[in-house]
Amino acid sequence: MNVVQEPLLGWRGWQVVEGRHGPALASWWVDAVWPARRPLEARCGVHGSRPAAHHACGIHAFSARDEALAYLHRTHDSVPLLFCRRPQRALAVAIGRVSGWGRAVTHRRGWRSEFAYPYDLFLLERDDGLARAVADRYAVDVSALPPIR
Ligand SMILES: [Zn+2]
Repeated sequence: MNVVQEPLLGWRGWQVVEGRHGPALASWWVDAVWPARRPLEARCGVHGSRPAAHHACGIHAFSARDEALAYLHRTHDSVPLLFCRRPQRALAVAIGRVSGWGRAVTHRRGWRSEFAYPYDLFLLERDDGLARAVADRYAVDVSALPPIR
């Protein structure tokens, strides 16, 4: 466990859901909608915002893009993704890089951090209008095309 001086950069996936003020990024399994223009802070019932080495808390990211993609495909296979535990309708699936900072736990395949914010995003299915709306809301680059594999 360490306190990160420079932000970590990793990969993860999101659902783009219809929020009260426009399209919003939502975590995959945890029922968390990412705030726009301010960091998401981790929340654990035991450890608060600071991820613990022996726990699964903190905001997760993979080191490799392919691991993040594989994670999405795994959940595609096992659960009807767009309906999993989420009251809002999912508009799209996004993958992208995420910055993490504060207290962080690094491990072989990625890291878990206290704070995080998206760095750039790609929609897995082309939607120019939605890409623009998400870019405006979160003030990050959003490509309407998936990353080249
Ligand atoms: Zn915890």
